[in-house]
Amino acid sequence: MTRFIFITGGVVSSLGKGLGSAALGALLQARGFSVRLCKMDPYLNIDPGTMSPYQHGEVYVTDDGAETDLDLGHYERFTGRPAAQSDNITTGRIYTNVLQRERRGDYLGATVQVIPHITDEIKSFISEKDGSADFVLVEVGGTVGDIESLPFLEAIRQFTNEVGRKGAMHIHVTLLPYIPAAGELKTKPTQHSVKELMGVGIRPRLLLCRADREIDPDERRKIALFCNIDYEDVIPAMDVSTIYEVPLSYHKEGLDTQVLDYFRIEDAKEPDLSTWEEIVRRIKEPETTVEIAVVGKYTNLTDSYKSLNEALQHGGIANNTKVKIKFIEASVFEKEDPTPYLHNINGILVPGGFGERGAEGKIKAVQFARERNIPYFGICFGMQLAVIEAARNLAGIEGASSTEFGPCDDAIIGLMTEWTKGNDTEQRDQGDDLGGTMRLGAYPALLEEGSKVCDIYGSRDIEERHRHRYEVNINYKEELEKYNLKFSGMSPDGGLPEVVEHTTHPWFIGVQFHPELKSKPFDPHPLFVSFIKAAITQSRLV
Ligand code: GLN
Repeated sequence: MTRFIFITGGVVSSLGKGLGSAALGALLQARGFSVRLCKMDPYLNIDPGTMSPYQHGEVYVTDDGAETDLDLGHYERFTGRPAAQSDNITTGRIYTNVLQRERRGDYLGATVQVIPHITDEIKSFISEKDGSADFVLVEVGGTVGDIESLPFLEAIRQFTNEVGRKGAMHIHVTLLPYIPAAGELKTKPTQHSVKELMGVGIRPRLLLCRADREIDPDERRKIALFCNIDYEDVIPAMDVSTIYEVPLSYHKEGLDTQVLDYFRIEDAKEPDLSTWEEIVRRIKEPETTVEIAVVGKYTNLTDSYKSLNEALQHGGIANNTKVKIKFIEASVFEKEDPTPYLHNINGILVPGGFGERGAEGKIKAVQFARERNIPYFGICFGMQLAVIEAARNLAGIEGASSTEFGPCDDAIIGLMTEWTKGNDTEQRDQGDDLGGTMRLGAYPALLEEGSKVCDIYGSRDIEERHRHRYEVNINYKEELEKYNLKFSGMSPDGGLPEVVEHTTHPWFIGVQFHPELKSKPFDPHPLFVSFIKAAITQSRLV
């Protein structure tokens, strides 16, 4: 039997609902249960693909090519279970589905309404997940009280009513703010938020209370009394120094125990948390430190590089090393010499990106890394710009550029209009919509025997996730390889360059895909492990 756990948030946003859901998923898994996690986002965009990273943080891409909320990245990193398109829904998609059906005449003349048509569509999204998992965790985006979350709350209320008490529970994540003048954590916002939830017919059975300090037993009792739940179901969720400590901390406070208690599951085994303990130990007791410069565009909102930050940390965990990340706004290098910013750096990474702004600055960072033998990792845009840099500064192709920035003399990087996916050919025109017209999701690549990247993966066949419109132009391969920029990974049909590496450099790799999306703390991505290892070696030289 599949049990459903709905996770809502109250008081303020950014309480770490996604992380809490992911940690609960990990705890249930550690007790031997299978879990699925999914997220419902109340905004009107069809998916976050066209949203600025400033608005919504990183766009997380799944194997099946969905552009999803970054919380799905947390789910994967904590449970190891690959997320899919069907794990994320938005109001925009729900309405699109309903309206398409309306146009087809599927509603047989009925008046189409939020209740029941929108709520039914939401319910079918939830129940679709009812497959093999023991638990389905459904996170509701936004904050209770928002107008736009109402249809979702109504849908989960109905759903809970239909499956009954044994089949579903509600967890509410709230905040206990500390008021210095009173010298205490305040419970009133939590009480109000629970009241709001009760007002739409949802009774939370467990409260995950975020706080920046210990919650006094009296306050915990007060919350229990006024929110009508047991003392043990008021779970203190204190800030911890690393997100990977969250499963351990929530377990200590009884989160998974109380969930099982609610469902009256008595025979569950104690969770095996040794992997999480080891991860946290390595993070807290590193043997050495390296500093990596991430030269990008969205550097003042680090959520835009969520998976990247995590993957770098994973590389550190594998090497018992603390990875300090220095975010540098690329456009700075268009006016200033990079040396004072980069001379003490042990590795340079140019991440994925879009548009011309800052591109020349990133190319400067590539050149710096190449000329000074500093480990360089170029991801997607970072690979494309590395190829442009080599074309301009090694092969002397002065007009080398990308058509993403407008027409150019030597389109080293050009728009892809056709590519193969499985047995099909995908096509796209210059003027197509921006939403959902990229090469997205997992594609295989073939690595060259004897190349560094092949060595790192320990295999010739790989599969990685993509999210881009432009491609390195294969016609420049021969010329660039004369200057030791080897095209060491290609799409299986040989048409699209997937990996480049400078063979005379200690560690210089550019990849057209996003390896950071598949890295996990307990299974760090080999490219990040190797990159951090190279950074450690570099740190010993300076
Ligand atoms: N802007 C580039 C493209 O669309 C790179 C995209 C990316 O880095 N994800 O091809």
